[in-house]
Amino acid sequence: MLLSDAEIERYARQLVMPELGEAGQAKLRAARILVLGAGGLGAPVLAGLAGAGVGQLTIIDDDVVDITNLNRQFIHQTSDLSATKTKSADDFIRQLNPNISVTCQQVRFDAQNAHKLATGHDLVIDCTDNPETRYLANAVCQQLGTPLIFGGAVRSDGQITSFVPNDANSPCLRCIFPHTDLDYDQAPNCANAGILGSTTMVIGGLQTAEALKIIAGFGTPLIGRLLLYDGLANSFTEIEVAPNPACPVCGNK
Ligand SMILES: [Zn+2]
Repeated sequence: MLLSDAEIERYARQLVMPELGEAGQAKLRAARILVLGAGGLGAPVLAGLAGAGVGQLTIIDDDVVDITNLNRQFIHQTSDLSATKTKSADDFIRQLNPNISVTCQQVRFDAQNAHKLATGHDLVIDCTDNPETRYLANAVCQQLGTPLIFGGAVRSDGQITSFVPNDANSPCLRCIFPHTDLDYDQAPNCANAGILGSTTMVIGGLQTAEALKIIAGFGTPLIGRLLLYDGLANSFTEIEVAPNPACPVCGNK
């Protein structure tokens, strides 16, 4: 038997799915996933991964819980106000599933520490809202050959895709968004444009699905496909995205 009796009971409702099964669950248990950001997208992602039994989670966030976070960041409680988001997220996961090993990094993911922090993970999930951090995570994941699940959410709109460096059909972030010289302060963000909790739950839920599929090896990941979510119409649009052979990050692979 690959799993203990306790694991078979806890994960019964997903183990019964033939595409997962005990072998897939054992892969989830062995997986090491880095989640960048414990905010709007990080909340559903961390809850989903911990509930599903992903064995090792690393959380990077340098922020503290603010009252304005609580319309959408449901792993944090009113009693967590002013606590670090990593501590609050760790507390939530411990309550949900004490079998998960959580490593908290209360730091900003930057050019100095990014490579070291990302090393040793099977998958990275971008749950940030900062373009500089996104491009940095993309470059580091390409260097390490680590899959990266990209997600973004603002107002009632979102987008998601997966970048898998060893897949010839997979672009990287820089292939599909080549302009890194945007005025970051002018880009719409949750503070200046607004955000619904429903939007982050949809995109974070899809990021979780991508992670489970890529780790356990079932289904069809969003490789070469950018999925756009329109929450006002509740509709999805899929755009084909291809690798750019001239991409300065992933070109000539
Ligand atoms: Zn690229």
